[in-house]
Amino acid sequence: MKRDSSEGLTAAHQGPFFSASSGRLESSAVAGGYARATIGVDHSFVAPRPGQFVLLRLREGPALPRAFSVLAAEAGRLEFLLKLDGALREALGRAAMGTEVVVRGPYGTPYETRIGRDCRYVLAGGGSGIAPLLHFAAAYPELTEDVAFGVRERGVRDLLPGVDIAVEEEGGETADDRLRKRWKHGLGILACGPEPMLRGIAQRYAAEPDTYVSLETRIGCGFGACQGCSVETRSGMQRVCREGPLFACSEVPWLR
Ligand SMILES: Cc1cc2nc3c(=O)[nH]c(=O)nc-3n(C[C@H](O)[C@H](O)[C@H](O)COP(=O)(O)OP(=O)(O)OC[C@H]3O[C@@H](n4cnc5c(N)ncnc54)[C@H](O)[C@@H]3O)c2cc1C
Repeated sequence: MKRDSSEGLTAAHQGPFFSASSGRLESSAVAGGYARATIGVDHSFVAPRPGQFVLLRLREGPALPRAFSVLAAEAGRLEFLLKLDGALREALGRAAMGTEVVVRGPYGTPYETRIGRDCRYVLAGGGSGIAPLLHFAAAYPELTEDVAFGVRERGVRDLLPGVDIAVEEEGGETADDRLRKRWKHGLGILACGPEPMLRGIAQRYAAEPDTYVSLETRIGCGFGACQGCSVETRSGMQRVCREGPLFACSEVPWLR
């Protein structure tokens, strides 16, 4: 069931408005093929809600802006978890402190306006997909039953101290294995991670009403004009950057 309430959201969270800021890399730690990076932005920059994303690019470096979920957001500061696989993420993750970063957003529909509020959720996250789910868990403890997080290499755990994460190279357990153990009937699922993981979840929990996946297609403009990130849904083509990134599994049967 979709929640139609949007209390607490500003026009910037709901419409095609966004702010742009010239930010600076304030901190970055690298481990296990990932970086945790903090970018200082103008205090006027509208803080993304859980599930929303921003477009980042380096003032000097790879030219194309790319989409990134937020791990944590506060006035004047955004935190990210980057998988160091690709031109921008590697450049950003390894950039010198003070490097100038152009930040635009927030974009996308906050998770809380897409999900039912009459159940609690197990948050299933793989790799950098853990970021928006931690943001959600911090903002909505009353909707969070448990987490089922997994990464391949143990180094990532050092970047997220105190977070319960299965490390595949240690015990062989994945986020998916954790989800099987921690989910039970009556609970919902919010999943974000690599497509094979989302596919597995979409197949196994297809009949469950409150199962949602956060999709990561290549984003163009970020605010719905170019339609380059559109995906097929039961209600027609929808834009990951605008209606998404979160979709009910029942809306995207092709994922199965
Ligand atoms: C809503 C949303 C939220 C996201 N949040 C995050 C996040 O929090 N953290 C995160 O790390 N990512 C996130 N992403 C994913 C990220 O935006 C993309 O992976 C983006 O392309 C990264 O840009 P890049 O320049 O670093 O990598 P790119 O250079 O675009 O490369 C991306 C992938 O494509 C491969 N690739 C590149 N060029 C080629 C080629 N010629 N042939 C074959 N393969 C190639 C790379 O090896 C890599 O695996 C998010 C995406 C979306 C849509």
